Amino acid sequence: MGLLAQAGAELTPNAEDADVIVVNTCSFIGSAQQESIDTILEMARHKTGGKAKRLVVAGCLVERFHDEIRKNIPEVDALVGTGELEEILTAAGVVNPDRSAGVSPAVAGASRSRLGQPAPDPSPFNILTSRPEGDHRRRQGRFARDSWDGAVADLPNYLYDDHTPRVLATPEYSAYIKIAEGCDHPCSFCIIPQLRGQFRSRRFESVIAEAERLAQSGVREITLIGQDTTCFGEDFGLKDGLALLLEKLAGIEGLQWIRFLYAYPNKITRRLLDTIAAHDNICSYIDVPLQHASAAVLKRMKRGGGADLFLRSIEKMRRAIPGVTLRTSFIVGFPGETEKEFEELCSFVKEADFDWMGAFGYSDQEGAGAFDHGKKLSPREIESRRKSLMSIQKKISKSKKKSLVGREFDLLLEGASTESDLLLEGRTAMHAPEIDGKVFVNDYPDGNEPKKGEFYRCRITAAHDYDLVAEIV
Ligand code: SF4
Repeated sequence: MGLLAQAGAELTPNAEDADVIVVNTCSFIGSAQQESIDTILEMARHKTGGKAKRLVVAGCLVERFHDEIRKNIPEVDALVGTGELEEILTAAGVVNPDRSAGVSPAVAGASRSRLGQPAPDPSPFNILTSRPEGDHRRRQGRFARDSWDGAVADLPNYLYDDHTPRVLATPEYSAYIKIAEGCDHPCSFCIIPQLRGQFRSRRFESVIAEAERLAQSGVREITLIGQDTTCFGEDFGLKDGLALLLEKLAGIEGLQWIRFLYAYPNKITRRLLDTIAAHDNICSYIDVPLQHASAAVLKRMKRGGGADLFLRSIEKMRRAIPGVTLRTSFIVGFPGETEKEFEELCSFVKEADFDWMGAFGYSDQEGAGAFDHGKKLSPREIESRRKSLMSIQKKISKSKKKSLVGREFDLLLEGASTESDLLLEGRTAMHAPEIDGKVFVNDYPDGNEPKKGEFYRCRITAAHDYDLVAEIV
């Protein structure tokens, strides 16, 4: 959006008003692929029977099914893979490829970084350019797309930087910053490494510069994202890169909530925990997707670990950061998952007492290691296990939320509630944007109507299974 706006395009969220429609797609699991295809087909109708003149498809579905989209959806005019972001300008017809010399200097600068030639960087951290783990996995064929018909030929190698123009799609007080891209882990259910490429970190200084600029423009909450943020800096030879980055970000004036998603279980170091504990504006919040708790399933998932190890590590987190909010997610119905292994997962969830938990049914993905292995469970069995795991967590969540009644927290007010006109809603530091429950606000001092994007002290007055009710004090 930043590149398009800088090149003079006028952006609209309404498909019916657009001359050019861009569908950004996901291809992570079957349901995401289906949703992407449904959206492309829905948007294609604006071209055949509406105002739109061009339809562009971007993102991971393009990486995976480039030729199929071309062949089967003739309404699509251009495709932009995850490694060719700057091509959005020619794809949208904003810049004619023959006149690309007319692209503004900042866009041309971003293009150079895509080609692997970043501007000279004085950073002492820029020693290595890739992780030995990633190179090793590449030799093992982890990133190969040979079995995929019609995929984009080259692995993406794109990374934006602080010079890349950006339009915030989030409310003006909150922003995501991607600090790394790609993943070198070998998880056997996952095709993200094939879709997003080898792990690579953004330059330390580039992230700081972007965060400073966002803070100056009024952003108060920053969420650092990447497939694995806890590996940040490893490709620069940097140890505890995420902890160092958080420390530096915590010093930026105006940033009130800083958090990161997602942590890899064995990458949560003492230094990282101490850094979170030491700074008021780093949220005491860790999202660590564990995926399972049975050591046998985790081994087949090529992740390692198990219930005992995870419980010790959770205890370490709770001791280092009193009151820490823990979120995790699990995959149920992984090929060959026995009743006993599922029971192990259920007992672990009861014991671990997570604040937030998500459970996903296993989705079979061609190209992932697990595709050809193990006995597949029926979709019905997978869904039944998923529901039963979620019902365990629902009880845990209900009791944990109830224990918050009467306590006070800082609340970021997000405006009128989507559930009822009579309520406002917001989040505390325990709630990451979009994913966790909500806090409904039903009372505030007379004559002091709270404003969206501002922080207020609130008292929790009631609790539901996942959501809370509060009054502003
Ligand atoms: S760490 Fe996450 S993104 Fe990387 S391979 Fe495993 S599940 Fe996929």
